[in-house]
Amino acid sequence: MNALVVAIDGPAGTGKSSVSRGLARGLGARFLDTGAMYRIVTLAVLRAGIDPSDSDAVGAAAADVQLSVDYETDDSSFFLAGEDVSSQIRGDDVTRAVSAVSAVPSVRTRLVELQRQMAEGQESIVVEGRDIGTVVFPDAPVKIFLTASAETRAQRRNAQNVRAGLTDDYQAVLADVRRRDHLDSTRAVSPLRAAKDAIVVDTSDMTETEVIAHLLELVTQRSEAIR
Ligand code: C5P
Repeated sequence: MNALVVAIDGPAGTGKSSVSRGLARGLGARFLDTGAMYRIVTLAVLRAGIDPSDSDAVGAAAADVQLSVDYETDDSSFFLAGEDVSSQIRGDDVTRAVSAVSAVPSVRTRLVELQRQMAEGQESIVVEGRDIGTVVFPDAPVKIFLTASAETRAQRRNAQNVRAGLTDDYQAVLADVRRRDHLDSTRAVSPLRAAKDAIVVDTSDMTETEVIAHLLELVTQRSEAIR
């Protein structure tokens, strides 16, 4: 039984990953990035030459994917059949295909199971994704749903691209943010939405440091209340 699972959900570009990592550090908790797990399966699908929109083929291929995550530290590493694919899974090809792959029910069943196993026995763990508070850990004592306007999220992502020496194309990034929001929130299985008991935090006008401080306060309050 976990002492404390902190579920953090929300769309891309809310600062969710950096904030979740910072929160885990502040709490001295483990950190699990579930999006990366969907990305590993997507990389395997692409490498096998499978069309990501062919859900039967994706489901069949995903059943054999050997994925593992080293989440000892907050700077996790991700493996596909023993190969460290931590940077490959962030590539544009994976980003474009991941929503289709993660909409396949058997992919979700397998990864949700793994996520539960990975949290088991941990004293405290911050788990970040899209369906953590609704499906993976519906009984998590602390659930946070991060939001920000599509424009703010696209600006943040475009600035990241520019810093990384990639393309500077705000309109294309905004279109991609909207496309992924639509796919993630309208899919039949585990659509992206806030759990009824989640605390919704709009990060549009907050810095990363402010969001982390705010969440640390929320988690501390909540864990004192349930003790
Ligand atoms: O968080 P990240 O952007 O890396 O997630 C990549 C994709 O994986 C999301 O756009 C979503 O389609 C999928 N995902 C999901 N369920 C999760 C985490 C991610 O469907 N718990």
